[in-house]
Amino acid sequence: MDVVKEVEKIAWPKPMKLFTAGPVACFPEVLEAMKIQMFSHRSKEYQEIHKDTTLRLAKFLEAEKSTVLLIPSSGTGFMEASVRNAVPPGGKVLVTVIGEFGNRYREAVERNGRKPIVLEKPLGKPVLPEELDDALKKNPDVEAVTITYNETSTGVLNPLKELAKVAKERGKMVFVDAVSAMGAADIKVDAWGIDLVFSSSQKAFGVPPGLAMAAVSEAVFERAKNIPERGLYFDLLEIKDVLVKQWSTPTTPPMPQIIGLNVVLRIIERMGGKEAWLKMYAERAEKIRRGALNLGLRLFAEPGYYSPTITVIYNPPGIKGPIIYEELRKRGFEIAKGYGKVKDETFRIGHMGYITDEDINLLFKNLEEVLKSLGVKK
Ligand SMILES: *Cc1c(COP(=O)(O)O)cnc(C)c1O
Repeated sequence: MDVVKEVEKIAWPKPMKLFTAGPVACFPEVLEAMKIQMFSHRSKEYQEIHKDTTLRLAKFLEAEKSTVLLIPSSGTGFMEASVRNAVPPGGKVLVTVIGEFGNRYREAVERNGRKPIVLEKPLGKPVLPEELDDALKKNPDVEAVTITYNETSTGVLNPLKELAKVAKERGKMVFVDAVSAMGAADIKVDAWGIDLVFSSSQKAFGVPPGLAMAAVSEAVFERAKNIPERGLYFDLLEIKDVLVKQWSTPTTPPMPQIIGLNVVLRIIERMGGKEAWLKMYAERAEKIRRGALNLGLRLFAEPGYYSPTITVIYNPPGIKGPIIYEELRKRGFEIAKGYGKVKDETFRIGHMGYITDEDINLLFKNLEEVLKSLGVKK
């Protein structure tokens, strides 16, 4: 085991408490379960675990009418897949942008030879239903609407249910980047009429990176049949076909991560189910926001749209760049630096994954000391 210790010394030189934007700290039970020896992903045993995980996630997402797909990729893979499978080349997509990840969707549309029509809001603000309705009225020929459910760069949660309703009323497909929302903010796939919603294992489910998951509507598969240029790796028809016939994936799945996700979905069940789990996340987020406000800090997001997974905070006057991040790191806490256009003005505290109340108390005690040492007045 000496080699393990050697590698640990490089990757994990001292224990850190993680308040990151992802990868986040994993549940100890998840890490434990992921240690098992590998076996064939074409075996009956693998099919069993893939099926069980898929059905558990479908239940969690209330996606009985959609198909839940688990694939080897990071979340962004499904961003690309949505565009390639459900929008013909040259087709228009209304991309809503409230920060860096909305911009990434715009790029995914553009770089795949489709045409983005952008509805952009000032940083810190959500997209409102009436604004989306206006944009759709002006652009009746778009094929789909993209929504960042939780914008990780600004800490804003978009009103997804209401936005999806507007898009459906105008007959548009709805694609949702829920990478930093799924598992912490409610998603009712069928009831809200969402056509494709995706996430990654390393965010609110608290599993290591490498697994992307999505719920995909029948309408998406129908569209895909008329789009031959779907590519190879993200061909949703082929991915669905292998799922239906073999409870597996066309290419090798990240088996440990799927086992890890299965464990988390069972932890959620034990806790009392989805409602209890989402409540835990809401309370944790509230505690972190209160902690910041108690230190006299200002939140970046518009009140009423606070994220359940990440709190973005203005640097106090006189502080620029990642100084608070660096100081906390020296004390064994890894938060997240400001991201994108506001990287010099803000820092971020992630709430995702394995975090205890005691960790939060310790973080704020240390943050208070850091602010004091930097000469910040309350
Ligand atoms: C982290 C994140 C992504 C990127 O996810 P990957 O798994 O790295 O592809 C995309 N969108 C949002 C909102 C995120 O927070």
